Amino acid sequence: MLNEILFPHDKIREIQDQMIKDLLTSYKNKKHFLMHAPTGIGKTSILAPLLAKAIKNNKTIFFLTSRHTQHKIAVKTLKLIKEKHKIDFTIVDFIGKQHMCPIKDISSLSSSQFYEYCKDVREKDECIHYLKSKNKSPEKAVLLKKLTSLSPLHVEELCKLSKEYCPFEISCSLADKAKVIIADYHHILSEPIRKNIFERANKSLQNSIIIFDEAHNLPKRARELLTANLSTPIVERAIKEAKQFFLPTEELEKIHTNLQYISKSTSISNQETLIKKEDFLYPKELIKSLKKISETPLEEKKRSYILSVASFLESWHGPDQGFARILTKGTSYRKPFIQLSYKCLDPSILLKPIIKESHFITCMSGTFSPINFYKDILGFTNSTLKEYLSSFPKENQLNMIVPLTTTKFTQRSDQMFQNISDILTSLTNQIQGNVLVFFPSYQIKDDIFNLLQFKTKKTIFQESPSLDKQQKEEILIKFKKYKEIGSILLAVSAGSFGEGIDLMGDLLKAVVVVGLPLTKPDLEVKKLIDYYDLKFNKGWDYGYKYPAMIKTLQNAGRCIRSETDKGITVFLDERYAWNNYLQCFPKDLNIKISKEPSTEIKKFLQND
Ligand code: SF4
Repeated sequence: MLNEILFPHDKIREIQDQMIKDLLTSYKNKKHFLMHAPTGIGKTSILAPLLAKAIKNNKTIFFLTSRHTQHKIAVKTLKLIKEKHKIDFTIVDFIGKQHMCPIKDISSLSSSQFYEYCKDVREKDECIHYLKSKNKSPEKAVLLKKLTSLSPLHVEELCKLSKEYCPFEISCSLADKAKVIIADYHHILSEPIRKNIFERANKSLQNSIIIFDEAHNLPKRARELLTANLSTPIVERAIKEAKQFFLPTEELEKIHTNLQYISKSTSISNQETLIKKEDFLYPKELIKSLKKISETPLEEKKRSYILSVASFLESWHGPDQGFARILTKGTSYRKPFIQLSYKCLDPSILLKPIIKESHFITCMSGTFSPINFYKDILGFTNSTLKEYLSSFPKENQLNMIVPLTTTKFTQRSDQMFQNISDILTSLTNQIQGNVLVFFPSYQIKDDIFNLLQFKTKKTIFQESPSLDKQQKEEILIKFKKYKEIGSILLAVSAGSFGEGIDLMGDLLKAVVVVGLPLTKPDLEVKKLIDYYDLKFNKGWDYGYKYPAMIKTLQNAGRCIRSETDKGITVFLDERYAWNNYLQCFPKDLNIKISKEPSTEIKKFLQND
């Protein structure tokens, strides 16, 4: 059996065996497969039976993940399969094109700037890496042969070996023969990118087995791809750009005036309001002409703001159903600005055609619960839903709701924040080692920090808004160094440390989630609630409650990352003990509710 499913190890665990049986039954019944599978189950092993199916039925696997570490795990698993079963197949590992690009300083561009730049240099034959990749030279043939023989290679290794060429183009050439393509979500979700890869690699959705790893991120990623924004600073930059290149500015100035006019003529509460499509609708000929004139600046620079304006106006022509058109007023660097957003509320608009056309799809995540919520909002109909329990030893975890405080808006006060900081001081003093504390917002984090810094003996590290990758890494390195004496990292639930970081072993002893990370009930959230009320009669749950609980569970998941990890997770808010939130916790967390957290922690630590 293990040989038949190309299993990469000598032994299979009971839970993996069950998971693979469920998966294969679903495949046989031509139903997509959605699973909630907690960390440690060995989800990536499903690559093995699906690879066996792909080889037998001449399909290609797309393993899609937004996490760098998951690329490495997938490559490692495929390497093991190849070695153990002595089978030959090609694997290509893609990340975002910009991250693969060998051009110096390319990372300083925003993704849209990069996209425009890359398109432009390719069209004008100005990228030497691209030209070299397009030529059918003997050197290129040697390189492709070498890369195929070394496969599976992690994307970093491939980029290093093909840095004289365009690594993305080289990967596309290899993808033609690939049985497994490891990539990011957007390689499949974005229609132009998907079409490009499919055309070049001779692939199709009908012949694809798609695995969405960490699939709890899918709704957000799909919505983002269909959302478009236009602000007054962007239009101002477009006007400046037009002047700089001696291009007509009249239409752009009218667009700017119109933005200001509609913001003045509509009544705005809380700095935002809904806008009708016809209030900002521009003829398609005008959009076409803006696109045309944007070609001039693109000849000289990597980005055109005129093109950004044209792209937004084009998106605005899209449907109303599943979208919200919102005008926001704000200030940036003390300068007022107006922003118009065409926000996608419904990720199934993007996903439904992919679900319909693909040969087989698997979505998996450690926080894919409630699974029916994901099935509904992503637009799956013909699918199998499975929830597996954690295989980690129960005695290694203490998961506890402490209903002594709340960050509920109406109950926020100096006294409440004093109470929260007192509890945090007591918990962090009692727990030897590092503690990660999450807050629902930067404001609350800062308020608690102001109190905590005078009470705790431990060193405090803090997350600040918009950390880049390097700054985040630096904080983590410092935090890890404190594993013996212990420190506290104050972070925000939806921020940089909320998910995707692995602090294994004794690097992290406890996680405290302070408050409920509910999204600010702005117009977008209200529209989302209305939309899901109409569609599923579950607006409050689907638009407000579940997204917050998923963030909480992601935060909590930072604590126990392996079978041998031991840790404490505290959910510090009285609302977690309310029935409607309590029922969102997976059963295998064995949640306790206690108003005596110190006693519970003492008992847990004594058993250590
Ligand atoms: S074609 Fe390749 S090398 Fe050239 S800019 Fe685009 S990604 Fe970079």
